[in-house]
Amino acid sequence: PYTGPSADEIISKRRKYLSPAMLTLYSKPLNIVDGRMQYLFDDKGRRYVDAFGGIATVCCGHCHPDVVEAIVNQTKRLQHSTILYLNHTIADFAEALGNKLPGNLKVVFFTNSGTEANELAMMMARLYTGCHDIISLRNAYHGNALGTMGATSQSIWKFNVIQSGVHHAVNPDPYRGVFGSDGEKYARDVPDLIQFGTSGNIAGFISEAIQGVGGIIELAPGYLPAVYSTIKKAGGLCIADEVQAGFARTGSHFWGFENHGVVPDIVTMAKGIGNGIPLGAVVTTPEIAAVLTRRCYFNTFGGNPVCTAAGLAVLKVIEKEKLQENAFVVGTYLKERLTALKDKYDLIGDVRGRGLMLGVELVTDRKLKTPATLETLHIMDQLKETGVLVGKGGIYGNVFRITPPLCFTKGDADFLVDAMDHIMGKM
Ligand code: PMP
Repeated sequence: PYTGPSADEIISKRRKYLSPAMLTLYSKPLNIVDGRMQYLFDDKGRRYVDAFGGIATVCCGHCHPDVVEAIVNQTKRLQHSTILYLNHTIADFAEALGNKLPGNLKVVFFTNSGTEANELAMMMARLYTGCHDIISLRNAYHGNALGTMGATSQSIWKFNVIQSGVHHAVNPDPYRGVFGSDGEKYARDVPDLIQFGTSGNIAGFISEAIQGVGGIIELAPGYLPAVYSTIKKAGGLCIADEVQAGFARTGSHFWGFENHGVVPDIVTMAKGIGNGIPLGAVVTTPEIAAVLTRRCYFNTFGGNPVCTAAGLAVLKVIEKEKLQENAFVVGTYLKERLTALKDKYDLIGDVRGRGLMLGVELVTDRKLKTPATLETLHIMDQLKETGVLVGKGGIYGNVFRITPPLCFTKGDADFLVDAMDHIMGKM
């Protein structure tokens, strides 16, 4: 049993010693003390089905024994010396990661977070092309440092500081967008942005395959192939942000971009890559990677032996436990059950996503698509009381984000949907 500080004690310490900007998901925050695969446990020993996975961060399952063992063994041996000496862990993991990517995407730079990975990717695109302008999508989230905050395109995540050189294209959002699911129509905005907003040449384009923070928005089919070709014509590079959609989460493919039939020039990743360990990466071609040799480039903790040992263990677990297949099978089942719930309750405006990256958007009026923000909060709170944790996203905070560890079972999916059904039935 847990004998540490109570929730109230932690709250009072946080108020005094931690940033006032720190978020908690619930008005009465949970004190989570243990994690085991797809379950979390609070200070009272109460079990929760974790359908958010630390924001799609935990892919193999909380404290997966193979990953823990890799971390512990490497920690006992050597913790940090990647930068100036040789050590096999970083090379082994880079090789394994390179082998998961198509074509010439073989050269890996390690970082500690998704923000760092995207900052580096954007800088490399700028160096390679000699241009500054980058295009990202409205409603995107790419990070919170100056460059990536510029690429992030939701007012709630943007501070009033100078963020230069990013243009935000119309979002190919099948639910709220004006062109529905016609990706090619949305794509026509991109040549316009280039023609009217830039010199005609650009550094690149960055996007997620499924917007996570933005509320699980799967880019309309046909959009990415059309835009990638426009970007190439303007001399730019295409960056795929796989921080949430990567590492087998979409089930049908290992990488989110593969669902769209495109091959990017640069791929960025974080979250799932380390199953909760701070780790990020940028993967690109040898030709593009060469730009960093123009100056010294250095990241103290990026690719340290402990994190890369964890990363290698994650890839092995995904393979060994067939987690991609499980994401496909359980994700398809869960989406079917959620879609059936939509037929029952008008409050559900949309069910979307792929594999174990699903979204449920709540609206008070299906025609007007009025965001049901308060209802979302209420149901989320009630779900927590029932023992289910989901995330929340979208600029109106009215979308449930369901991104559990990839070991999620049909039984967990049933528990989640039955709980939602029960709560909505009482509203
Ligand atoms: N890209 C995407 C798609 C993300 O969802 C996030 C984090 N929510 C980031 C980048 C930034 O990652 P980090 O928080 O590790 O800096």
